[in-house]
Amino acid sequence: MAEGPPWNESMDSTEMISVAQAVRVVLERTARLPAESVALADAMGRVLAEDVFADCDLPPFDRAQMDGYAVRSEDVREVPARLRVVGEAAAGRGWRGVIEKGEAVRIMTGAPLPAGADGVEQVELTRELEDGAVVEVGRATEPGQFYVPRGSEIRAGERVLRAGEEVSAARMAVLASFGCAQVSVRRRPRVSVLATGTELVPVRERPGEDQIRDSNSYSLAAYAQLAGAQVERLPFAGDDPELLRREIAEAAARSDVLVLSGGVSMGRYDFTKSALHALDAEIFFERVALRPGKPTVFARLPGERQTLVFGLPGNPVSVSVTFNLFARTALRAMQAALSPALEEETAVLARAVKGAAERTSYLPAALSTDEAGRLLAQPLKWGGSSDFVAFARATALLIVPAGVKTLEAGSVARVVRLPG
Ligand code: AMP
Ligand code: MG
Repeated sequence: MAEGPPWNESMDSTEMISVAQAVRVVLERTARLPAESVALADAMGRVLAEDVFADCDLPPFDRAQMDGYAVRSEDVREVPARLRVVGEAAAGRGWRGVIEKGEAVRIMTGAPLPAGADGVEQVELTRELEDGAVVEVGRATEPGQFYVPRGSEIRAGERVLRAGEEVSAARMAVLASFGCAQVSVRRRPRVSVLATGTELVPVRERPGEDQIRDSNSYSLAAYAQLAGAQVERLPFAGDDPELLRREIAEAAARSDVLVLSGGVSMGRYDFTKSALHALDAEIFFERVALRPGKPTVFARLPGERQTLVFGLPGNPVSVSVTFNLFARTALRAMQAALSPALEEETAVLARAVKGAAERTSYLPAALSTDEAGRLLAQPLKWGGSSDFVAFARATALLIVPAGVKTLEAGSVARVVRLPG
């Protein structure tokens, strides 16, 4: 992320700051939420509050990888070899004896390897004789063949997951295997989403003249959910300063984060900042050197919850970009996620793009991989920060630093992947 001069407390909130500075301010102002214990089945998508350690070796015993016969490899050096079948080992029901010279035990995948054996021969390379009392092995079995030794995957006491990692579908298996019936995770942030704008109508209504359907509430709520939040969509506040103030105050009492869309520009009906001032909010920044998304507001309301407020510019693309750069970072930081901000990668630019003189651009792009395995960023053709139909094809944002006139095709650019 482009470095700017260090941000400090005495800075005027109306000063324009860089994206990197703004992210730093968000991280500095965001407090962690407490941990809570949830049932394993409810842990998906949650951020772990504690490291998780293996409580047993894996596998817990020498485990057969094939259906076949457990043998002593020295008995089957010369093939075909005939061995006496002295028992059977199945998954969940091992054979407790010791295999002696000239003996074999029929074994199934997942069963413990009996004592005395040092390999498994797969059933396809064996032949049963004398009604199953004898087996003929057709291949020389290597020592160590077709079983996974105890503890070779993980040893009891080793750390398997770290605090700050998110529980994924694959990690559910890890938690289950080590007996985590209850999992310690960070509480989900409670987020309220409030759309402003007299022009908005609900989704199920057909917009009249001069009206549009509210789309931001839905994209914001979805992005917030992806970030691990519990989300409530509030009734529209129109462009009514009194109603806006009341809704913000009410939502603050029950929300960790309030996300507002619209009303942060310099128009006559942009009341978000005045509502925040009237409620004695502390405004940390209100102008970011970002395209799209310059008039982004970050504030904190007084009161017990110290609710953080993100006032995002209403254009649907600006809303998505600024949410993911700033509000998402706060939501992840609240959950003490290991890397709360979107992580930058590099990609080769498929076509030239233009930058802006004073602002860093975050432009919609589609990522793909070329034949050489390089990550390619294809900037999307779009009609600007209101063009959310084009934006819906984006999988990433392409970063063009402030002051760069043109990033040429074939150059290496920084990108961040868009969640969801
Ligand atoms: P504003 O930031 O209030 O000046 O709004 C900027 C643009 O975004 C205007 O064209 C608005 O109509 C549009 N806009 C504002 N809020 C929404 C919303 N909730 N859904 C879709 N578009 C919106
Ligand atoms: Mg508006």
